[in-house]
Amino acid sequence: MPFLYRWSQNIQSLLLGPACVLCHAPASLEQDICVECKAELPWLGSACRHCALALSELTADRICPDCRKRPLAERAIASLHYRPPADWLVTRLKFSARMPHARLLGDLLAERIGAADMCRPDYLVPVPLHAKNLRKRGFNQAERIARRLAEPLAVPIAAQGIERRLATERQSTLAASARRANVRNAFVCRRDLHGAHVAIVDDVVTTGHTVRALAACLRRAGAQRVDLYAVARA
Ligand SMILES: [Zn+2]
Ligand SMILES: [Zn+2]
Repeated sequence: MPFLYRWSQNIQSLLLGPACVLCHAPASLEQDICVECKAELPWLGSACRHCALALSELTADRICPDCRKRPLAERAIASLHYRPPADWLVTRLKFSARMPHARLLGDLLAERIGAADMCRPDYLVPVPLHAKNLRKRGFNQAERIARRLAEPLAVPIAAQGIERRLATERQSTLAASARRANVRNAFVCRRDLHGAHVAIVDDVVTTGHTVRALAACLRRAGAQRVDLYAVARA
């Protein structure tokens, strides 16, 4: 099915130009979405500066209660709420290999980061998949999204030597305490990141446990500052 889908998409874009991934109307040349669908996306408004959790406009310092105790990242940026159709875009990318979704989600995130007043990292670190899951899926969605960020932000991707050690159980099926234990030692970093400013790139941030575990691992490898760029925040 993904194969057929890709063929039909390729033929359509050859004949008619790019189509909106949501409504199939003609899209702009730059992005895989039409103007109307883009305006209706569940854009994330006021959010925690450390974890991108949605906050009321009235939260003056833009820090959520959890990050007041233990900030998830130095700075966090997410483009969308994890709500329809953002959830559909992400799940179809992951489970049906719809690469135009990675392009679109990466471009939307690049726009957000570009508009935010924050210094550029030295490296983008896509959240790694375990080798077994990577073989099964054939690609890492976070890495595909990071590829779309690398050029406009002019920041290289650092993926070599950063691995996921445990084939963690699907996070969604575990209770909160089990999720934490599941990811605590999930990553290993064989790169020297001494003094580096890095930004973790992920598709969806839910509890933040995965990001926290990877951030701790990157800091142990010497990273001085860890930011977070996510497509969507649940
Ligand atoms: Zn559309
Ligand atoms: Zn927070």
